[in-house]
Amino acid sequence: MAIDGPAGAGKSTVAKAVAKRLGYRYMDTGAMYRALAWKVMRRGADPDDENALGRILESTDVDLGTDHTVMLDGADVSGAIRTPEVGQMASRVSGLKVVRQRMADLQRSMGRSGCIVAEGRDMGTVVFPEAEVKVYLDASPETRARRRFDELAGEDSTLTLEQTLADVVRRDRRDKERKVAPLRKADDAVFIDSTALSAAAVVDRILEEVNSKSNENGRTV
Ligand code: C5P
Repeated sequence: MAIDGPAGAGKSTVAKAVAKRLGYRYMDTGAMYRALAWKVMRRGADPDDENALGRILESTDVDLGTDHTVMLDGADVSGAIRTPEVGQMASRVSGLKVVRQRMADLQRSMGRSGCIVAEGRDMGTVVFPEAEVKVYLDASPETRARRRFDELAGEDSTLTLEQTLADVVRRDRRDKERKVAPLRKADDAVFIDSTALSAAAVVDRILEEVNSKSNENGRTV
């Protein structure tokens, strides 16, 4: 299953819950871009320098644990990558072809066995175009900023809702306008607007979709 959409649409919460209900693995591909971005920041590398990024990628190992841990070169970076700065840097480095190719290869090899709920920006369009169920999850920018703010405010008391809205809008614009694998709804994806829906309601809606697909294919989930 592929779940795509902009920042703060609720993809992670919903994708984790759906994976649990189906007994599938959950793959957070944003975390992989964030891990690389974190390394680029630590190295002080130029995120627009494709050659430098290519060299960093050659010696970079990103892995996602079943308990949602994010491992970078053998170290647990799960908490360190969840800042707005790392998010912005992830959005910059993810525009480079060399980065996207490497990440897509890794994602396909992790997803090869099937039974996976993959969440990101290009799951249904580029990485897993053959996914059985595709969802494009969106919400109004204000709702998405509020969700992000509620998640992050406990960690950073200087953060404001206005800053969070600006961060989300800037990142979405970059993700939608980039040349390689831009964020967009796959033609065969179900569009869900979560602005006025609880996470549980979105999960139910997705499970309905899974069931109707399974019925079409002659089996029940
Ligand atoms: O989902 P998350 O907010 O953690 O993603 C961080 C950034 O990683 C996104 O803004 C986007 O630029 C990039 N990303 C991507 N393709 C994906 C997942 C994330 O370009 N499949």
